[in-house]
Amino acid sequence: MIIRNYASCNTCREKYILRAGVGTEKYQLHSFDCKTCGLPISVVVRANPPSAYFQAEENVTIEEHEDKNAIVINLHPFFAFNKDEIHDRMALPSLLYMNKITPYLRFVSNRKFLGIETQDTGLQFNVPNASHLWTTVKNIFLLKNGDGQDKRIKKAIEYYEKQRQKYFSETRVSTPKEVAINFFDSLFYPRFEQLVKPVIELIYSIKDNHPEKFANFLQFYLDNLQAQHNRQYLSIFSDYFKIYNQLSQVVVHSRIGDEDVDDKIIGSKDFENVKLYYGQAYESITSFFVVFACLNNIFLGRDYDQFQSMTLSKYMKDVSKEKRANPFEHTKQFYTFTDGLDSTLRNGSHHASIWRDGENIFYRSGGTGAQREIAYSRYLHLCNKLTISLAALFIVELELKDI
Ligand SMILES: [Zn+2]
Repeated sequence: MIIRNYASCNTCREKYILRAGVGTEKYQLHSFDCKTCGLPISVVVRANPPSAYFQAEENVTIEEHEDKNAIVINLHPFFAFNKDEIHDRMALPSLLYMNKITPYLRFVSNRKFLGIETQDTGLQFNVPNASHLWTTVKNIFLLKNGDGQDKRIKKAIEYYEKQRQKYFSETRVSTPKEVAINFFDSLFYPRFEQLVKPVIELIYSIKDNHPEKFANFLQFYLDNLQAQHNRQYLSIFSDYFKIYNQLSQVVVHSRIGDEDVDDKIIGSKDFENVKLYYGQAYESITSFFVVFACLNNIFLGRDYDQFQSMTLSKYMKDVSKEKRANPFEHTKQFYTFTDGLDSTLRNGSHHASIWRDGENIFYRSGGTGAQREIAYSRYLHLCNKLTISLAALFIVELELKDI
């Protein structure tokens, strides 16, 4: 469903027709640059399906009547726009994207209509109110660390199950791990499972071929890495869901492995809140690579802490983040997780030496300080790629004990 309303910029009085796609999200914050004065305008879409309306947030007044010279602004929480569509009063991005999504849809019969099961394709490729649901997922893993928390965990898992059953009646989850798999798989398939499956298979074969070495690694992992990694995962995913309304606009592309993003126009732009995320995601994933590095040592017949030419403590202390994946660069199942890593962009994002001008992002690398440029849509796309890899790695780590 698309809703529309009229608005004007509080700074320069430029008139707008706002059009926004509304799904199951109850709250959508959208920001865009005023076409005339350039200052940011923010509006909120509040929805209680089937009704929805715009609310003024910053530098904008919602108007009663249409102005005949008004500029159309298209906004959608899950899709970006082509250049010729962004100001088109008839644009329907969901139709365009449906062609991209359809080949990947799983059949899930989630609704009964006159006693016949039907499917809603829109819901299949989305987790309604994902940011809100993430809080529940996070709490389940936070509670896991406490004593005597079993009842509270059970309650939170039941709450999660109930929320998902509203849309997929067959949802069944009974452990924290099952909740995490259900959540991230629903949010990020098919890319998510394309990452997870081959790695799990490889780890099974590593354990089969080197059971003692694997047991030693698992002990080391549980004693030294697990708790710290768990905290880091919960923290980076919480950062992601704070800015999910920005990143969700292009997430389809990273899910289906579609690189056709550079010409896409992002309707809602809130760069101030996403500019540091890439650097944070980069830091997190490269620090978690220690798990793959150790497993790769065993895969090659060595002890988990023995690299070709260094020890594990040297790897953890001295190897810089951009070289953390080098030891397993020939093991495809692990190395695929580096897709989207760019150390120059990381330096720009990490040191806040990054800014937006219109549809582009500019950043300075370390060293020579040369200025680089990418489309805003690609910046968001890369953030999503790293996040899907992080989610897959999170599940792989949760599986380690059960392999
Ligand atoms: Zn203005």
